[in-house]
Amino acid sequence: MKIEIISGLHRKAPAAILVSTPGQRILLDAGGALEPDEAPWPVPNDLDAVLLSHDHGDHIAGLSRLPMDIPIYCSEVTAQALPPGRNVQPIPVRGQFRLGDILVTTGSCGHAWGGVWFHLDVAGGLFYSGDISMESALFRFDPPPPADIALVDASYGLYDTPQRQQMDKLRVHLQQPTLCPVPPSGRAVELALLSAREGKTDIALDAACRAMLIQMAEQNDGSLQSEVAAELQMLAQTLPLFSADAQLVLAADPDGINGMAGTLRGREDFHHRTLFTGHMNQLARQQWLAGEVEFCRWNVHPTLSCLQALVSQLSCRWFAPLFTVIDSPTQWQQALNCHIITDPMIETERCQ
Ligand SMILES: [Zn+2]
Repeated sequence: MKIEIISGLHRKAPAAILVSTPGQRILLDAGGALEPDEAPWPVPNDLDAVLLSHDHGDHIAGLSRLPMDIPIYCSEVTAQALPPGRNVQPIPVRGQFRLGDILVTTGSCGHAWGGVWFHLDVAGGLFYSGDISMESALFRFDPPPPADIALVDASYGLYDTPQRQQMDKLRVHLQQPTLCPVPPSGRAVELALLSAREGKTDIALDAACRAMLIQMAEQNDGSLQSEVAAELQMLAQTLPLFSADAQLVLAADPDGINGMAGTLRGREDFHHRTLFTGHMNQLARQQWLAGEVEFCRWNVHPTLSCLQALVSQLSCRWFAPLFTVIDSPTQWQQALNCHIITDPMIETERCQ
């Protein structure tokens, strides 16, 4: 068996990983560009299946370059974000399904609504995280079964500041009128939920984010924390209609270029500060360096402590830190106490 990390190793890049067994060729995620000028990853031929972890562009937007008839395995929520006409095979957020002779286990990833991690019962267990977070108040994270090889979201590198500390910093930023560009299925609803818990009601969600809130309030597909249902229903009922004058405006898209976030930022009468809380593309980073926008990380990827807990849960021996620069493999090895994968081609015999 071979694993090829086509895209996503050594830098924050779209996710695309090819798993080739004697009988099947399976693509894990099919990410789209994070930067406008980014060259697309080479599409492998003869694919039997594509497994999609969650509905963010850097995990699904590369699908447009794949043939229409390939079976796409993803949750019902993720399927909503796909263009029509795709050969979608719905999978449970928390459960199992078969791909030929491979048993695939899924669990909620704690990062996005309808988002999952994958565990394949090949080569002593192969775990692919997609994007994960163990610190979400809104999304549950299911502990995965043991796996020898782990390909894991390490978007924050060796950063290790817990969410409660970031929350304190965020409160300071939010004392002034603020626009947060956000992905609707991710931190929009979580930020609204936590603000509501603190008694702050002067919040506006744009149509895309509000639609997600309403769907989440109506149905827990397995990816939400069990205790938030009543709070989400209350929030959906009591949240005022959208107003650009609200103290905290949560709006798509996460780059702050398109969608309501882009529209508002283009308006001359809109004076809220723009606060990025997630990945900033080059343009956003330039604006941040120039002092035109603010940045305060809201943890939606694992801290080092979370990665250490995950490694212990998986009992993995081989670990690929995905979506991050790997400056020092030795440092990673010491931090996680397992072999660090730095070569995008993984022959599983070598992992014995
Ligand atoms: Zn994501």
